[in-house]
Amino acid sequence: MHWQKCVRCGVHYQPVKIQTAGLCPECWKFLPHYRLTKGAIKTKAKIKEEGWPIEYIILYFASCSLCLLIIGYYLWVK
Ligand SMILES: [Zn+2]
Repeated sequence: MHWQKCVRCGVHYQPVKIQTAGLCPECWKFLPHYRLTKGAIKTKAKIKEEGWPIEYIILYFASCSLCLLIIGYYLWVK
């Protein structure tokens, strides 16, 4: 078995397929980007399930009301 030295804490460990950047499993777990990636994957899955994300719906209604306001303004002026 091949042993690798962790670049952060210097501990020797057996590298697993998923782990990268020369970090031991403990250091990899404590890295903030690990949790962020997990969260991003969860959010993406949620969007896929629910269809449109809330930001797009808000933007859609905002643009719709803006168009109506412009039309209404021109009608009112004339
Ligand atoms: Zn480590």
